[in-house]
Amino acid sequence: MTAVSTTTCIAPFARVSGCDVQVPLVQGGSCTYANFDYAASAPALATVTDRIAELLPYYASVHRGAGYASRVSTASYEDARESVARFVGADADQVVVFTRNTTDSLNLLAGAVPGDVVVLDIEHHATLLPWKNSRVVVAADTISETVRRLAAELIRKPAALLAVTGASNVTGEVLPIGELAALAHSCGARILVDGAQLVPHRRVDLAADGIDYLAFSGHKLYAPFGAGVLVGRRDWLDTAEPYLAGGGAVREVTIDGAEWACAPARHEAGTPNVLGVAALAAACDTLGGFDTGAAIRHEEELCRLLVDGLSGLEGVEILKLWDDATDCVGIVTFTVAGYEPGEVASYLSAEHGIGVRDGRFCAHPLLARVGRPGGAVRASLGLGSSSEDVDRLIAALQTLIADGP
Ligand code: PLP
Repeated sequence: MTAVSTTTCIAPFARVSGCDVQVPLVQGGSCTYANFDYAASAPALATVTDRIAELLPYYASVHRGAGYASRVSTASYEDARESVARFVGADADQVVVFTRNTTDSLNLLAGAVPGDVVVLDIEHHATLLPWKNSRVVVAADTISETVRRLAAELIRKPAALLAVTGASNVTGEVLPIGELAALAHSCGARILVDGAQLVPHRRVDLAADGIDYLAFSGHKLYAPFGAGVLVGRRDWLDTAEPYLAGGGAVREVTIDGAEWACAPARHEAGTPNVLGVAALAAACDTLGGFDTGAAIRHEEELCRLLVDGLSGLEGVEILKLWDDATDCVGIVTFTVAGYEPGEVASYLSAEHGIGVRDGRFCAHPLLARVGRPGGAVRASLGLGSSSEDVDRLIAALQTLIADGP
């Protein structure tokens, strides 16, 4: 095996005009890195790194300083709120709260929900676990029957919120968000969409899709770690207990207690991640400004190549939840007969410079339901993926399988 060293390069993104992706390049002899782990964290867009470089000399505490750097940082932080709102079609009744990531956003919302939450068993743990009063519905083998089961539960007993993932982080399958939003609203509930995997691949519009709350992470949206978003209807967020108690979240404090500010400040106590938020906003501006149709077609084409290639390999099984899913983002999870998922992932990395993810993807009940409680291998695509990468992955798996366990 060749020793690898890590460096970075700017890879022009040829297929979707107007968008460059900065990809990590692991060099080992002639072996360059093929990234199939976009669903975990996506490499930064060039526009994102530019924005960070621009702001880095000026970052300072926001909202409380009259100095130049403070004013630059405050303006950048508040402009970022507008970028996010624009990107997801939020209206004046909806508020953008900056968090650390999707998990943080969902835990914040959990403290604001005035009632039960209905949730599917196949969710990422971030959507499955935070709620104080949750009612878990077991997903069926089809989306239509799954929706029917959700409807039955919402009708059986009122709930305040239906919490669903936009796209599965294991199978990539996309849920019918518009239909689920209409269902929740007809039963007097609101809907939260965990957009961690959907937002990097599809344009999500709160008004058009009828979404009340949306959560997503910067690091899956071609920006670095540390900043996420909860965007949604103001009333619950304005009256909830502050997510964090401390400076910035209050209007007035006396020794008898605090008068809390409204959202978003109410939930953003402490010094915020100004650079992370600016990076996230730059990603929103860039992705919001280019041809989403071209990006989707590019990804669909690669996904088809990947699925066809994997389907032709002996002993490879692709995991799917539903027979009637009509839309899927670039996430393909599979097992290879005779190999543990970790063995496949280590082999691909060590011998071929290919980065996939293995394990249970923070979705243990889902893996159990599809009969893979021990985990699987996930190959996920993004803006920097190419057909050469896909060919390389398929060829590497072919060699593994031909050599035998
Ligand atoms: N929801 C989904 C569907 C995810 O895929 C993930 C991360 O993989 C999360 C939530 C949690 O995201 P984060 O780790 O950024 O909080």
